[in-house]
Amino acid sequence: METKDCVFCNIINRTIASNNIVNETDDMIVIKDIMPKAPTHLLILPKQHIDSVNEITEEQGPLAGKILLMAKEMAAKYGIADTGYKLVFNVGKHGGQTVKHLHMHLIGGKQLPEF
Ligand code: 5GP
Ligand code: ZN
Repeated sequence: METKDCVFCNIINRTIASNNIVNETDDMIVIKDIMPKAPTHLLILPKQHIDSVNEITEEQGPLAGKILLMAKEMAAKYGIADTGYKLVFNVGKHGGQTVKHLHMHLIGGKQLPEF
């Protein structure tokens, strides 16, 4: 996919305005989901365009680890570390992935249904 056609790349590059950015580092960005499924619903995404978990390479392992650590940091910042939360990567059609730019959902702030 051309990154110019990717909604998350466009948010990262500020091609489209988004007031949903809540945190940013050199290689990641955290945004509020536009259609939140719970009181806290954040998306943690690498700035580098990677289609999905299927395309993560060995070299990108540290970046994948940083996404988890960012989730931990944001959960503490949003006060849901103790009450708990779900971390979800949707992958492909059966996984319900709608945006083809790797992202992890951080969802919490209420009791969530079991999978
Ligand atoms: P997926 O289903 O691909 O795992 O999740 C994509 C998520 O991105 C959805 O929960 C959807 O609400 C969110 N989303 C889609 N477009 C935008 C957008 O332009 N801005 C923000 N902040 N979230 C978006
Ligand atoms: Zn992208």
